[in-house]
Amino acid sequence: MKRLLLHICCGPCSITTLTTLLDQGLEVTGLFYNPNIHPLTEYVKRRDGCLDVAGRLGVPVIVKDDEYDPQAWFRDMAYREANRCFHCYARRLERTAAIAKRGGFDAFSTTLLYSKHQKHDAIAALGRDMESPKTRFHYHDFREGWSEGIETSKDWGIYRQQYCGCLYSENERYARELGKKS
Ligand code: SF4
Repeated sequence: MKRLLLHICCGPCSITTLTTLLDQGLEVTGLFYNPNIHPLTEYVKRRDGCLDVAGRLGVPVIVKDDEYDPQAWFRDMAYREANRCFHCYARRLERTAAIAKRGGFDAFSTTLLYSKHQKHDAIAALGRDMESPKTRFHYHDFREGWSEGIETSKDWGIYRQQYCGCLYSENERYARELGKKS
């Protein structure tokens, strides 16, 4: 059975992704590596949602809490905020590919391919750039299971986030609150 390392961004995005990969006959291990999620309390909620889903599906998860370093992330994004998503995807996929190679996995992939809100083609291209002969990028358009994933996450009571992850995206999500008086 082929071993695949799946980068997981949150609980809801992992449901359809994991069930699809398991149905494809892959032996899946999750990787929670997301230094882009701010603040820390939000990171913890998404991490725990990921672990809840993985536990229900019997999938082990490597958690990189020790690499949660917002300062390093902000330094990395400085002066390229306008193109930050590309660098954010690249950083997470690079780390996933490196851990997959070192761990002897046959393939790696990411739950970012599930989201209709992300730049799907850019993520797929980055993944292909980072594959190697022994550790391939496993592409699948998980967006086809979008509605099913949402419904199951609600049924299971998995934490559902209100913004993509970084402080910039949180500001964009709630910008309309500025200037309002309570
Ligand atoms: S909006 Fe989302 S993908 Fe883009 S930089 Fe922020 S956390 Fe990363």
